[in-house]
Amino acid sequence: MKKLVRGLQEFKQSYVTEHQTLLEELSHGQKPRVLFISCSDSRVDPNLITQTDVGELFVIRNAGNLVPPYGAANGGEGGTIEYAIAALEIDQVVICGHSHCGAMKGLMKLNKLQADMPLVYDWLQHAETTRRVVSENYPESQGEERVEILVAENVLVQIDNLKTYPIVRSRLLQGKLQIYGWIYHIETGEVLAYDEETHTYVPPQSQLVEKKPSLPSRLEQYLISTHAPPVACEVPAARLQSASAAPDSSPANSSPAADRIRSQLNALLRDSPDSWNEVETSMQSMSQLLEDARHQGMSANEAQEYHFRFSEQIPVWLRQMG
Ligand SMILES: [Zn+2]
Repeated sequence: MKKLVRGLQEFKQSYVTEHQTLLEELSHGQKPRVLFISCSDSRVDPNLITQTDVGELFVIRNAGNLVPPYGAANGGEGGTIEYAIAALEIDQVVICGHSHCGAMKGLMKLNKLQADMPLVYDWLQHAETTRRVVSENYPESQGEERVEILVAENVLVQIDNLKTYPIVRSRLLQGKLQIYGWIYHIETGEVLAYDEETHTYVPPQSQLVEKKPSLPSRLEQYLISTHAPPVACEVPAARLQSASAAPDSSPANSSPAADRIRSQLNALLRDSPDSWNEVETSMQSMSQLLEDARHQGMSANEAQEYHFRFSEQIPVWLRQMG
């Protein structure tokens, strides 16, 4: 306890002093981006392993990083999940298992647990699927190897459990929620992330590579709203030129502010974004600029014209990206 009290003093003197602004901001409310579900194990520290600061992770920790299925328990997990997604509008969830997990070892000796630790036994019923999947599908495994398999399968079982929550299902359907399965290796500090396509755990950075099987929904909506040609179709060369090489001309009675916005819009049109993110950023900038331009007196017709030019440009960008 002495160590903890010393720690409190040190925390106040150093961390609090150095992070005054952040703590002051956070006192007005939190806006964490990620719900992080991990084990209570003292060797797993979500903020430490992700190098995140106060206010960045919303954390649930319990023995075995378990998620009781919807309605299956009266514990705090369900309410915390609901609050994270509904109230805090968190759109990313990480379920993080770890090597040498004591809870997973417990699954290997449930009979003994039932007698010695009945509450732990009850809690581990939320990992019964994990136990069964491993005992029936990896019958030869034992010892440390079996623990590793239990840890890996358990992350997937808990992701399934998470999907039993109405709010989770609904947000997944809307494309507004991402769920990640991670395993943290205590001895190396390494984290591996579950890859659905290959059914293996891979370095998490490999999942940051942008996937482009379909248009981001916002772009799709934009294309529909401006009656642009479908993405895959060819845009006539002459029209392409007019879109990308339009002069920075302006109506006679235009204000300098509106002229500046026109130049910015034309610069955006001449740009060649090379990723989805950049296209999205361009579209956001365009919307903002057009809104500003309207306040500076740009006519509705001219704003509409810019919309058309952007909608012609998007397929060109997409083709350039390959
Ligand atoms: Zn654990």
